[in-house]
Amino acid sequence: MADTDSGSATRLTNTHTPTFGLASGPVTEVHAFWLAGMSCDGCSIAAVGAEHPTVEQLVSGSIPGLPKVVLHHPVLDVEAGEAFIAPYRLAREGKLGAPYVVIYEGSVADERIAAHYGGYWSAMGANIGADGSHQPIPTAIWLKDLAPGAAAMIAIGTCATWGGVPAAAGNVTGSMGVMDFLGKDYLSTLGLPVINIPGCSPVGDNFTETVAAVLMFLAGVGPLPAFDELGRPAWMFKDTVHRGCVRAGSYEEGVFAQNYGDTECLVELGCWGPVVQCNMVSRGAIGHAGGCMNTGGICIGCTMPGFPDAFAPFYKAPPGKTLSGNTSRAVGSFIRPLRRISQRKGNLSPRWARTGFVPSGWGHVEMPGPVMRAAHYFYKKLQYSGQFTPASARQQSLQADGHKFIGEVKRHIEQQDGLKP
Ligand code: SF4
Ligand code: SF4
Repeated sequence: MADTDSGSATRLTNTHTPTFGLASGPVTEVHAFWLAGMSCDGCSIAAVGAEHPTVEQLVSGSIPGLPKVVLHHPVLDVEAGEAFIAPYRLAREGKLGAPYVVIYEGSVADERIAAHYGGYWSAMGANIGADGSHQPIPTAIWLKDLAPGAAAMIAIGTCATWGGVPAAAGNVTGSMGVMDFLGKDYLSTLGLPVINIPGCSPVGDNFTETVAAVLMFLAGVGPLPAFDELGRPAWMFKDTVHRGCVRAGSYEEGVFAQNYGDTECLVELGCWGPVVQCNMVSRGAIGHAGGCMNTGGICIGCTMPGFPDAFAPFYKAPPGKTLSGNTSRAVGSFIRPLRRISQRKGNLSPRWARTGFVPSGWGHVEMPGPVMRAAHYFYKKLQYSGQFTPASARQQSLQADGHKFIGEVKRHIEQQDGLKP
């Protein structure tokens, strides 16, 4: 485990021997110890909103093949006080008798700073001194103690993955992500480095889906999911959010929103989507609905390690938008009219094109004028060059061959059935 920023504390090492190995038989139950550091609890809210799978499905063990999750969560647990803390203590002492994973929400503060002033940044449970005094146990200490025996270490949210808002420039807490705290040599008992599911807050489904995938691996019924070089589930974070954005078509045509509420691309209002790795718009916030640009919000890069400083000031357009935006504008001003021409053509049925009239009771549909008709003529020539056009002599001859063949087959069957001589 790595030393913290100030460099004055004893360097933590990773020489600890795990106090349990995975059971040789099938794993039927896995404990999940949730720890909250410098957190707003938004990740917990996101997780309980997940739908694919739901937290309820995980804790009830209702997904075939997956072990049941015994969740220990400071807010959701039905136990309180020492009864709640007891399983944490058992796990720390290697006496739990079952595999466990650790889920850390919020960033890991440098508790030495708080201790210097006689306090703590974030804590859970307490050690009782000889004089009966209660000394709160920082969650950073729980993390350090539980990490060596964890089958998997999962950081949820951008604070836990990269440091996030509490680790922004000028902070007084020395906050950092779990990966920074545990160091690059950290491996869980399954041999996995820290798994990172970023987002502020993350998509709940990203979290529960990753947990389910890791549980399948743990239970021996699935392969190790693909993670990228930063420990992110690769299938969720390899692409930029721009690639799946519902507004990407208007970016490509160089048409940009000028005000909030406009339906076009938001890059000129400050959207960082073209460089940000996130699946929010394709997955939606909850139940495949909502999500930043889907609902009119710009991307502020909340899944990225540089967040928030690298994307501030929010609501100011990224510097690169001038070059890329003007390029899209130039290309779009040429491409857009061409697309409108073929769109007009696609909006005419063969009958309407032939009769020159659209019998719609909803409104008058103007027919293409001579210039548009000429454009359609040449477009069609290009479209079918080297091919045969619908209703052409070549197509009719092929259809005649087909009809002849079908007729012969039919006759043959009728002869076999004795219906025809
Ligand atoms: S709104 Fe953002 S992510 Fe969507 S197309 Fe525009 S720049 Fe890309
Ligand atoms: S689209 Fe941008 S702001 Fe929205 S969740 Fe993804 S990274 Fe965060």
